[in-house]
Amino acid sequence: MSTHRTFTMIKPDAVVNGHTGAILEKIAASGFKIVAMKYTQLSLRDAQEFYAIHKERPFFGELVAFMTRGPIVSAILEKENAVEDFRALIGATNPAEAAEGTIRKMFATNIAENAVHGSDSDENAAIEGAFHFSGREIY
Ligand code: GDP
Repeated sequence: MSTHRTFTMIKPDAVVNGHTGAILEKIAASGFKIVAMKYTQLSLRDAQEFYAIHKERPFFGELVAFMTRGPIVSAILEKENAVEDFRALIGATNPAEAAEGTIRKMFATNIAENAVHGSDSDENAAIEGAFHFSGREIY
């Protein structure tokens, strides 16, 4: 069953480059309602746990170093068909392959520093949202 929710992070590259406002505006203009949001920084342990699924991949160390490098904005977003629609809005993992007008095409640096995260399934959206927010922080 679809939960109509997805989880996102505006990653350290996009935050430090000053794209937070523009990305949030695009998210809102695309019909997503923010039901939880925080400005925070991941610890090494947080990032290793959040990205545990990638721990065997050759770029795991780089990914964890990048995601802990500076502050992020994490949020839970609500919309019909949220997971799929948000993946379409952010575009391909590699911004060079992302469609025109997508967030990654507009704001990402490269395949590693790609501006935003978006959950890839309803199940992961729920897990990732619960990793970042307690029930009292979701409205
Ligand atoms: P996503 O679902 O589109 O975010 O892509 P993946 O689940 O495949 O990868 C997770 C994250 O790991 C990506 O968003 C990138 O930040 C990072 N990543 C993916 N591929 C590479 C790579 O080849 N090198 C590095 N350094 N990071 C990568």
